[in-house]
Amino acid sequence: SILHRAHFTTSAARLDQLPPPSAPEVCFVGRSNSGKSSAINVLTQQRRLAFSSKTPGRTRLINMFGMPDKLEPERDIGYLVDLPGYGYASVAREDRSAWAHVLGGYLRDRPSLVGIVLLVDIRRGVTDLDRNLIEWIAPSGKPVLALLTKADKFAYGQRIKMQFAVKQELAAIGMLHTVPFSSTHRIGLEDATTHIENWISP
Ligand code: GDP
Repeated sequence: SILHRAHFTTSAARLDQLPPPSAPEVCFVGRSNSGKSSAINVLTQQRRLAFSSKTPGRTRLINMFGMPDKLEPERDIGYLVDLPGYGYASVAREDRSAWAHVLGGYLRDRPSLVGIVLLVDIRRGVTDLDRNLIEWIAPSGKPVLALLTKADKFAYGQRIKMQFAVKQELAAIGMLHTVPFSSTHRIGLEDATTHIENWISP
């Protein structure tokens, strides 16, 4: 998969530090502890790619991972963009509004953004924090892949039930695909991979 070629390209603390849009971008958003880093690592088959974004001081950055063209490896044909996890309880109020600015601004204004991967812990379902995020996502009109993470914690029937509930909660989003997902048990991995690949090279 093209996703396996992902490599760290750049970090940005502010929107104006992002490189100019040059290729399709798929972003990953989720509250802290939603399983975002684990999902990025398993999708790219790289054990530590996204954990580098979790080292202290880098949690608030936008991290971009380029995926090089096969024939012209110096050229990235797409990017995975790890947006800062939101909702750390320990974060001060003014930091939260800075976060909201970065997340909201990226989702609203980035012209190269072709799809949004939203990570939702299947056990918690859609929380108030997620609802805030949906208010930024929905107006962007961009397609959303909702990964219901840690699906291994639930039996099949319970997974389907939760998937249905999440779908209803996310009804405000136009193009929505939901997938029960587990990084540890590789549930939904193929479905998610295909979906993201199709966004990058349709
Ligand atoms: P992030 O803060 O959203 O990047 O979340 P992480 O990827 O660091 O995961 C948060 C916690 O959930 C860690 O303790 C992971 O080991 C655990 N976790 C992540 N994905 C899975 C999964 O698919 N199954 C289970 N059982 N635990 C998971």
